[in-house]
Amino acid sequence: MEELRRFLDGRVVIKLGDITKEDVEAIVNAANSSLMGGGGVDGAIHRAGGPQILRECKEIRSAHYPDGLPTGQAIITTAGKMAARHVIHTVGPVYGQGGREKAEQLAACYRNSLFLAAESKLKSVAFPAISTGVYGYPMEEAAQVSSRAIERFLGSDKRIEEVRLVFFSRQDADIFLKNHAFTSHSQ
Ligand code: ADP
Repeated sequence: MEELRRFLDGRVVIKLGDITKEDVEAIVNAANSSLMGGGGVDGAIHRAGGPQILRECKEIRSAHYPDGLPTGQAIITTAGKMAARHVIHTVGPVYGQGGREKAEQLAACYRNSLFLAAESKLKSVAFPAISTGVYGYPMEEAAQVSSRAIERFLGSDKRIEEVRLVFFSRQDADIFLKNHAFTSHSQ
């Protein structure tokens, strides 16, 4: 899996790969509010991790979110058979009308996932490009929103040492690298 660039004194790594293979303490799932699995990254994570993840999601859903996990929020489970120890499940916004609200919801996904990781004492977290698949968020806009949210969080909270942004395709990574808003490069 190919590392492309680093930002923020090396704390943010941009790379190509399959997020289910990342050897970090937590990988983030682009879940849907049902927490019952789905396509894209969600399906790949449940397939790679095995049935334990869905069992935990169902318990969390029935105990805390009977109506589903709201957009922008995050919960944590174990990672089953994957190399990562935990999965942080967050629900991205479906792109469409209401630009500013969608951007705030997408930023909340990154902020709340990082906060949950930090509170859980996890030092490395890998994200897919949340909402940029089936949920239709343009990669150009998602790049700006996600990089701003990550930079703001890491600036005020030093507990997380490494954030990896994992892109499935070179094309997506290139669009991210042209549109991100990180202010400091380290390579
Ligand atoms: P959403 O429903 O939030 O849009 P998707 O799973 O449809 O989520 O897609 C989110 C992004 O993750 C897309 O850019 C997609 O290309 C990418 N993706 C899909 N599978 C993987 C994977 N195994 N590893 C990393 N990224 C992936």
